[in-house]
Amino acid sequence: MAKKQFKAESKRLMDLMINSIYTHKEIFLREIISNASDAIDKLAYLSLTDDTVTTKRSDLRITVTPDKAARTLTVSDNGIGMTAAELEQNLGTIAKSGSLQFKADMEGDKDKSDIIGQFGVGFYSAFMVADQVTVITRRHGEDAAHCWKSSGADGYTISDCEKDAPGTDVVMRLKPDTEDEKYGEYLETGRLQALIKKYSDYIRHPIRMEVEDYRQKDKPEDAGDDYQPEWETVVEEKTINSMVPLWQRPRSKVTQEEYDSFYREKFGDWQPPLATVSTSSEGTVTFKALLFVPSATPYDFYTREYEKGLQLYSSGVLIMDKCADLLPDCFRFVKGVADSPDFSLNISRELLQHDRQLKIIAAALEKKIKNELVKLMKDDREKYEKFWAAFGRQLKYSVTEGYGAKKDLLQDLLLFTTSKEGGLSSLSEYVERMGEGQEFIYYVSADTKEQAARLPQVERIADKGWEILYLTEEVDEFVMQALQEVSGKKLKSVSDPDALPETDEEKAEQEKQAEDAKGVLDFVKETLGDKIKEARVSKILKSAPVCMTAGGPLSLEMEKYFAKMDGSSPMGPMKAEHVLELNPASAPFAALKAALEAEDRDRAAKYVQVLYHQALLIAGLPIEDPAAYTELVCSLMN
Ligand code: ADP
Repeated sequence: MAKKQFKAESKRLMDLMINSIYTHKEIFLREIISNASDAIDKLAYLSLTDDTVTTKRSDLRITVTPDKAARTLTVSDNGIGMTAAELEQNLGTIAKSGSLQFKADMEGDKDKSDIIGQFGVGFYSAFMVADQVTVITRRHGEDAAHCWKSSGADGYTISDCEKDAPGTDVVMRLKPDTEDEKYGEYLETGRLQALIKKYSDYIRHPIRMEVEDYRQKDKPEDAGDDYQPEWETVVEEKTINSMVPLWQRPRSKVTQEEYDSFYREKFGDWQPPLATVSTSSEGTVTFKALLFVPSATPYDFYTREYEKGLQLYSSGVLIMDKCADLLPDCFRFVKGVADSPDFSLNISRELLQHDRQLKIIAAALEKKIKNELVKLMKDDREKYEKFWAAFGRQLKYSVTEGYGAKKDLLQDLLLFTTSKEGGLSSLSEYVERMGEGQEFIYYVSADTKEQAARLPQVERIADKGWEILYLTEEVDEFVMQALQEVSGKKLKSVSDPDALPETDEEKAEQEKQAEDAKGVLDFVKETLGDKIKEARVSKILKSAPVCMTAGGPLSLEMEKYFAKMDGSSPMGPMKAEHVLELNPASAPFAALKAALEAEDRDRAAKYVQVLYHQALLIAGLPIEDPAAYTELVCSLMN
C-alpha cells in the first residue's frame, strides 16, 4: 500500500509532537477525548433532523480501553465517524486556523515545549506518547469503514476495513518506556481515571472505562456465626466523568485553573483568558453563560475572517457553534458559551435571529460584559490596560458606528493618552481632574504624544495647567464627534477659536488686532489664493507665529485619514478647508508687515509662502512642491 506524505505544516507539527520533551504529555488524552465528544455532538445534532440516526441518545458514549498485553490505549466513540475523504482531509493536513496561529506563535520562540503543552494541538498530540496510531472509523450512513495508520512523520496509509457500527476508534500503541518516561502509565486505570477527571470531567457525554472495584462478597446463606466478610475484586464498566458542563456548576465550586483549561481547549488559545465572567438569570428568560476575554488580540481579529459569536446550548446540547446575535459588535472579542433551556433544539438559524428570548439574553450579556470591564478597570488597572491594548481599538470603532448608538454603553470604557504625566486616563478620570474655571474637555490630534505636546495651539491651554487629551489614533477624532460631551462637559478641540472663554476686554482687543492686521491678512489671502479659505488673526496661538486649522466641519486629522483611505473617489479624497492663523505678536508677523510697509511685495510674498508651508508642516499635512519650497527658503538667505 502506498504511503502518503503529510502536508508540510502537519509534518512539522508531527515532528514537534514526536520529539516533544514536554512534561505534560498527558494532555494527549484530553485532546483525543475532546475530538470524540465533538463527533458525538455532531451525530446528536444530526439526529434532531435526520430519522436515519438510530443510535439512542442515551447510548452515546466514549469508551477508554487500555490493553496491557498489546500495549495499546484505545479511545472509541459512537459519534458521526469519517468518510475516507474526511479521514484524508482531517488527519492528513492541518487546515485548522488555530494550528496555523500556533505555528506563528512558535516562530522565534525558544520555549516551544511550553506552548505545546498549553495549546490545544489536537489529534497529533497522540504522537507524544504513541509510536503508532491507528484510526478505524465508519461514517454514519455508510457501510464501509476505513483504517488510517501512521507511525509518525514518514506518512500514513488509508485502507478499507470492517466496523460494526458508526463511530471512531483511535488506537494508540504506546512508546516503550525509557529511563525518564514511563509511557506504560497510560495503561493503568487509576492514572487514566485521574486524567479524565482532571481534564475531561465536564465532557457532556459519558466517558466509560472498566475499573476494578474492591467489594465485599455476598454473605453465603449457610454462613455460621463466625462468618468473616470476604472481599473480591470485580471489574466493572463505569462512567468516569461527572458530565456536568462547567457553566452549570456554581462558580464557587470551580477553580480558575478549570476555567482556564476549559477556555484554552474549547477556544484554541494557548494563553489563559484575561477575564472570566459567569452569569445566570432566571425569570422571563432562564440562561447561564460563561464568557471569556482573551489575553491577546486574535491574529485574525481585525480581518474579515474573524467570526464573532458564542456557543449556544439548549440544556447542554450544542445547537449553534457561533451564534453571532448573542454578542454586540463592540464586544465581538468575547468568547464563551450560553445555555438556555428555553430554546427548542431544532430551531432554525433564521428563526433564532428573530427570537425574542435571544434578544433578551443578548441585552443582558451586553450589560454584564460592560459592568465586568468597568470593574476590571477599577480593581485591576494593569490588567485592564492589557485588555485595552488588545481590544481598545474595537471599542473606539464601536463608539463611532451607528451614529454613536453605543456611546453611552462604551464611553466609560475608553482610555486616552493625555498631557498629564503617567499612563492612560479614562474620560471620567479626566473630568475629576478638571481645573478651576475649566469648562471643556480639551483634545488635540497628532501622530504621537510628543508631537501633540509641541503643537503651537496647545500652548495657551497647557499654560493654564489644564489637561489635554492627545488623540494619536485615526479613529480618535471620530470618537470625539460621536461623543460630543461626557458628564455634561463638552469635548473641545484646542484649535477651536472659542476653546478659551474670553472677557469683553479681550474680545475688544482681538477686534482691534484684526483691524490693525487687515492689510497684512488681505495680502496673505491674495498671495495664497485658493490654497486657503481664509487668513486670520489667531485666537489660539500664544508664542508660535503660525498654525493651520480647519474652517469647516471636516478636521485636518480627518483630511489625513481620508487621504490614506480613499484615493478612489473621482473628486479625489475629501479635504478640509484650510484656515491660516497668524500671531500678530510674533516676530515673523512683524517682518511681514515691515516688508509690506517698505513696499517690498516680492519679499513679503516669500514670507507668506514660508509661513504657509510651516503651518502645513506642523499640522502634518503634505507640501505640494518640496523642491520649490527649499529653493524659496534658500533664496531668502541670500
Ligand atoms: P480539531 O479537533 O481542533 O479540529 P484535530 O487535529 O484534533 O483538530 O482533528 C482534526 C479533525 O479530525 C477534527 O476537526 C475532526 O473533523 C476530525 N476528527 C478527529 N477525531 C475524530 C473523531 N473521533 N471522530 C470524527 N472526526 C474526528
